[in-house]
Amino acid sequence: MSACILDGKALAARIEVALQEEVRLFSNTLMRSPRLAVILVGAVAASHSYVKAKSSAAKRVGIDSRVIELPTEVTTAELIRLIESLGDSTQQIPFDGILVQLPLPAHVDTRAVLDAVPPKKDVDGFHPENAGLLFQGRPQLVPCTALGVQKMILDAGIPTAGRRAVVIGRSDIVGKPLAMLLASRGLGGDSTVTLLHSRSPNLSAFTLQADILIAAVGVPGLVTADMVQPGAAVIDVGINRVDSQLVGDVDFISVREVAGWISPVPGGVGPMTVAMLMSNTLQAARLQSGI
Ligand code: NDP
Repeated sequence: MSACILDGKALAARIEVALQEEVRLFSNTLMRSPRLAVILVGAVAASHSYVKAKSSAAKRVGIDSRVIELPTEVTTAELIRLIESLGDSTQQIPFDGILVQLPLPAHVDTRAVLDAVPPKKDVDGFHPENAGLLFQGRPQLVPCTALGVQKMILDAGIPTAGRRAVVIGRSDIVGKPLAMLLASRGLGGDSTVTLLHSRSPNLSAFTLQADILIAAVGVPGLVTADMVQPGAAVIDVGINRVDSQLVGDVDFISVREVAGWISPVPGGVGPMTVAMLMSNTLQAARLQSGI
């Protein structure tokens, strides 16, 4: 039997509708919209298209977003100065959220730039303060992709408590925060989590045990049907361009015949990441205004 499709696009659209109302209430109370600054460096085509999707979503939900485009040659110090000025809360209409679109050019110290974002404006959830709070089970702003995957799991009614979750990929922006969320106490958590990476031998020995299997790697078709436990939920975070087509890390055609649930690429985790960015921007605006 073919797996249920986890339609991230449809779920993201529903989340946006709910956010529109919440943003309207916020704006009525504060007499201004939540504000998001997006910093875009260089001419990477994929980054431009992600930023476009984020700006369009902001417009739909009523968030006032501004994109600041900078040339590839920008220095780390210049970026930090820009972030400091955007983060200045004494401005007449301050920004509530600041996002730095990754990747940054190789000569830029990405860690130093991300560390410069004030933690309460850190809508990507990459600042060490936000990572630490998530680690301690008191999340403040959680990385959007990880949060989006957890929302997809919850929305589909996929049980997590006491279940075995396997996350392939240990990046600070996807794999690690997702493992933390799934292992945290409470709704959408309480899983027994295994985190795999490029040094893990014999991935199948772990993935075949997974009730929930998440691939966040960047290797097209890494997860094949013979690696999946029948009935498992398989969530594909990967975005890879192959012959000018977008594909995930999961071999969708074969795995859908084994899995209980599966997310497609495109139309799965991607739209959820954008929806969670909107949610985080509202959350950041609330954190700072105290409402
Ligand atoms: P990174 O490159 O930062 O991390 C990839 C991880 O995969 C690393 O932990 C790496 O291990 C591990 N890995 C690499 N090869 C293998 C392998 N053969 N077997 C097991 N593990 C392996 O990537 P990101 O986390 O930033 O992104 C992962 C994927 O998700 C990419 O395709 C990216 O485009 C996509 N993505 C999608 C988003 C969305 O909204 N849908 C958002 C963000 C990312 P090691 O640590 O040992 O190097």
